[in-house]
Amino acid sequence: MKPAEFAYHRPGGVSAAVALLAGLGDDARVLGGGQSLVPDLNTRRITPRHLVGITGIGSLRGARKMAGGVRYGATTTHQMVEDGLVPDAAGGLLARAAAGIGHRAVRTRGTLGGSLAYADPAAEWPTVFAALDATVEVCGARGVRSFPARELPLSAFRSALAADEIIVAVDVHRLPPGRWWGLHKTAGAKGAWAASLAVVLFDIDERGTLCAVTLWLGAARDTPVQLPATELLLTGRRAAGLDVAAVLPGVAQDLGTVEGVSDDTARHTLRVHAATVCRALARAERAGRSSGTGRSSGTEGTGAS
Ligand SMILES: Cc1cc2nc3c(=O)[nH]c(=O)nc-3n(C[C@H](O)[C@H](O)[C@H](O)COP(=O)(O)OP(=O)(O)OC[C@H]3O[C@@H](n4cnc5c(N)ncnc54)[C@H](O)[C@@H]3O)c2cc1C
Repeated sequence: MKPAEFAYHRPGGVSAAVALLAGLGDDARVLGGGQSLVPDLNTRRITPRHLVGITGIGSLRGARKMAGGVRYGATTTHQMVEDGLVPDAAGGLLARAAAGIGHRAVRTRGTLGGSLAYADPAAEWPTVFAALDATVEVCGARGVRSFPARELPLSAFRSALAADEIIVAVDVHRLPPGRWWGLHKTAGAKGAWAASLAVVLFDIDERGTLCAVTLWLGAARDTPVQLPATELLLTGRRAAGLDVAAVLPGVAQDLGTVEGVSDDTARHTLRVHAATVCRALARAERAGRSSGTGRSSGTEGTGAS
């Protein structure tokens, strides 16, 4: 199908883009890399009469180091992060997350801001930035505001942005030395969307056990979810050798699914999430030990568990 007719605007700066959006109201949409918006236009799921393209605005592209972290412009592409064209505030976690998104052609055009604004529950960036407690800065007709990235998705494909607001940047704290991370994406095939996506961060105490565990899961609910019961269950344990049976009770409690449910599909889905968590933990542990630096260079993977 072809999209309905629209006018294309290419403002030179953020203020001009915001003024356009405020003037055009519900008839306009921001166009980032177009990797999600254009399919929606082609299928006429949405039919805006105006598109406001922002990828030509220089101030929104790239990254710069700032005190305690890195600021990523909203139109920085997944490929720029994957290829290390911007600094990685999270010791390699961002590059690994980027590399797992779709295919290279998607990553070359798709942007951080577009992914966050689209709020797909299975997307990488909403879960990764939530786990890293990143901050988003948005600009709208009423001015600039900043808030935690984890508050941006309200439900599946619905964000906290007003119609005239543009995501301008994402601020990510630098991971302290000794903080280990692991990311695992379970998907049906390479390049496919996540069936489950786990991001784990932890420290190792003097006894060699996990502490200060942060664990987030994507593709499980309408928005990324933190797993506090599983974090508690993991605290004081050794990552090596933790299996699905060990983490399943925590994951079941966090997802509100009763262990031992009779529904086969629900039980299978729960096990997929538990296995994804285990793999993220195992990869963090292996990479952290082998690096010998105290900082994990964890990794990601694909393939059904
Ligand atoms: C085949 C395929 C496979 C994919 N696989 C994955 C995957 O495995 N994992 C994954 O995470 N993603 C995947 N994606 C999605 C991809 O990451 C997109 O790049 C992303 O979802 C949207 O980014 P975009 O820059 O293309 O935004 P666009 O498509 O241009 O816009 C998406 C939405 O965000 C709004 N928007 C864009 N930029 C801003 C901004 N700065 N401020 C406010 N609103 C904005 C638009 O108005 C629109 O509503 C896939 C896409 C395709 C086509």
